[in-house]
Amino acid sequence: MTQSPSAAATVFSQPFWQAASEQRLIRPWCAHCQISFFPPALCCPHCLETGWTWIDSSGIGSIYSFTRVFRAPVAGFETPYVVAIVDLEPGFSLITNVLESNFDQVRIGDEVEVDWAGSMRDLPVFRRASAAGRRTS
Ligand SMILES: [Zn+2]
Repeated sequence: MTQSPSAAATVFSQPFWQAASEQRLIRPWCAHCQISFFPPALCCPHCLETGWTWIDSSGIGSIYSFTRVFRAPVAGFETPYVVAIVDLEPGFSLITNVLESNFDQVRIGDEVEVDWAGSMRDLPVFRRASAAGRRTS
């Protein structure tokens, strides 16, 4: 079995990774702007308020953009895989993986849900929502 690379927590991202280890998706939220942002930083990138907090994410979003990777940039990734930008709540987007066995089915705008069943169980990945809930445009 190949050992996958893991993300390094920073003082700002440590709560995100702690929640992820509990299979909870959280997001930075600025009460002043009423908006989220990512990645976490000292202050809100919109108003520079430093008093932002972490709140739960719905874990439901849509694919903003994606690419298919057939040659991993470093050892430890099982190819092929889909890398996507997933839009979640306003201001909160993640660069993540979309687990999909049939790449030809993945489309920009597809609804996705967070999933913790990837090869790295403490890393949020996404699966496309059921066909019944999928957008048609
Ligand atoms: Zn703000």
